[in-house]
Amino acid sequence: MKYELQTIPVWKAFEAEPECALCLLEQESEQRNVTFFLGNSIMTPEIRVKLNERGFCRRHFHLLLAGEGKLGYSLALGTHLETIEKRLAKMERRIARAGRSAGKAVGSVAEELRRHESDCLMCERIRFNVLNFAYTVAKLYLDEPEFADALRASNGFCLPHLAGVLEMGAEVIPAKRQSEWNALIFEIESRTIGQLRTHLEEFTWQFDYQTDKKTPPHARDAVQRAVERLAGYGPR
Ligand SMILES: [Zn+2]
Ligand SMILES: [Zn+2]
Repeated sequence: MKYELQTIPVWKAFEAEPECALCLLEQESEQRNVTFFLGNSIMTPEIRVKLNERGFCRRHFHLLLAGEGKLGYSLALGTHLETIEKRLAKMERRIARAGRSAGKAVGSVAEELRRHESDCLMCERIRFNVLNFAYTVAKLYLDEPEFADALRASNGFCLPHLAGVLEMGAEVIPAKRQSEWNALIFEIESRTIGQLRTHLEEFTWQFDYQTDKKTPPHARDAVQRAVERLAGYGPR
């Protein structure tokens, strides 16, 4: 697969010092996509054809619903429902034809419905963006010592993004620097998860009337950050 360098947004994301730079970049990509799909592009034939077939996942149907501008969305939903109607009619016929072995046919129809539910045009575009961002992280690490320092000093990555970062490293980092890269990534994770555990403990002080210790300001959002670390960014 051919990736694109996205130097400026990646540098900016690391400078913002978030819990996970890829979460910040993914969230920005998601916001851009919401604007994209609620804008005029939803009307272009190319997007309409794809939308009719595929639609969005649960999260993205709802994010679009919460966004501004409903005309394009209402038209797209209408034609997408038309496709779904035809698809359901075919499913019904398949089950009816199966007669006594309807159970098996229902099983395959249910599987198809579930596949359809997770097939999302927006997820696909965001995934592609995130791959490019992870690629840029690995490339900048190789080419710019200043970025390697920023990476080393960063909070690292949430667990969902860690997997992609490690895989991208295995693909992009030359063999002779692989062990140094992997050691660095795990070192960052272990340092920042250790810090996070300390902050979670400091967070609990405010509920403990037997201690004089006060929750320090840096620990006030520890629960939020722990969840972001474990699960990536969530609904905002
Ligand atoms: Zn993340
Ligand atoms: Zn989606």
